[in-house]
Amino acid sequence: MAASKCVRLSGQVAKELLDSVDSVLFDCDGVIWRGDQAVPGAPQVIQLLKKHGKKVFFVTNNSSKTRRMYVEKMSTLGFSAAEDEVFGTAYCSAMYLKNVCKLQGKVYLIGSNAMKQELEAIGVQPIGMGPDHVFGKQTDWANVPLDPEVRAVLVGFDEHFSYMKLNRAMQYLSRTDCLFVGTNRDTRLPLEGGTAVPGTGCLLQAVETAAQRQAATVGKPNHFMFDCVASNFGLEPGRCLMVGDRLDTDIMLGSNCGLKTLLTLTGVSTVADAEANRQSDCTERQRMVPDYYVETIADLLPALQG
Ligand SMILES: [Mg+2]
Repeated sequence: MAASKCVRLSGQVAKELLDSVDSVLFDCDGVIWRGDQAVPGAPQVIQLLKKHGKKVFFVTNNSSKTRRMYVEKMSTLGFSAAEDEVFGTAYCSAMYLKNVCKLQGKVYLIGSNAMKQELEAIGVQPIGMGPDHVFGKQTDWANVPLDPEVRAVLVGFDEHFSYMKLNRAMQYLSRTDCLFVGTNRDTRLPLEGGTAVPGTGCLLQAVETAAQRQAATVGKPNHFMFDCVASNFGLEPGRCLMVGDRLDTDIMLGSNCGLKTLLTLTGVSTVADAEANRQSDCTERQRMVPDYYVETIADLLPALQG
């Protein structure tokens, strides 16, 4: 495959690129919305792509929402989307446990209520949601009660993450036949105004360090996220465009799966970041260079309206 060039997309090239694909996969935060506001013009871009017969999908590492919750958020922001077009890590990790791991048994879940719902929707029983309180003086940490039916530990975003949960996950994972899966490895989530919060990757690394084991992760840049979409809709990788704001997750996923890639500058990564990767000698970093970039996905409008 030819090295990616990170070319600014406009005019005729934009038209040719869109003509060359059947499906467009969008990351969400930093691409079609920022926090709780739609990127101006993004709803029209999605609508026009569909009008031109393109399949559109939404692919996000955020594990705090079910597919239905995403559709509700999108509708509030002016997007029209169907549940089966949305691939978040809450849904995808449930699919991974069911279809790839063929899980038989319960899941010890460090995660959100949304993850619980997606697991239950496919018949997997999660345990461990919500706070895991320490009552009185806990002394025998290594012998906390465990459920003998647990066959997997799944780690996603959990606002109630604690030492007790970390300990419980470690005790389950001391059994070698216990599966270990994480939603994603994002370490920091940037917010408006230059602040940031810890990402799920921090929780996953804590559990990996304690358990002295590596988790399999389902989120971008792991190809499972694309496989999940491709197997549901029969997609041909070379006819797909991945649009994202992060080089290390979105663009890397595209490179890992043989998709065309477009970086948008409304989120985390910059053209300077992409250029630095392009000039690097490291092959891993060279895969974090997009084919094209735009200031905002609204820059696709002229090509779609012409
Ligand atoms: Mg993003």
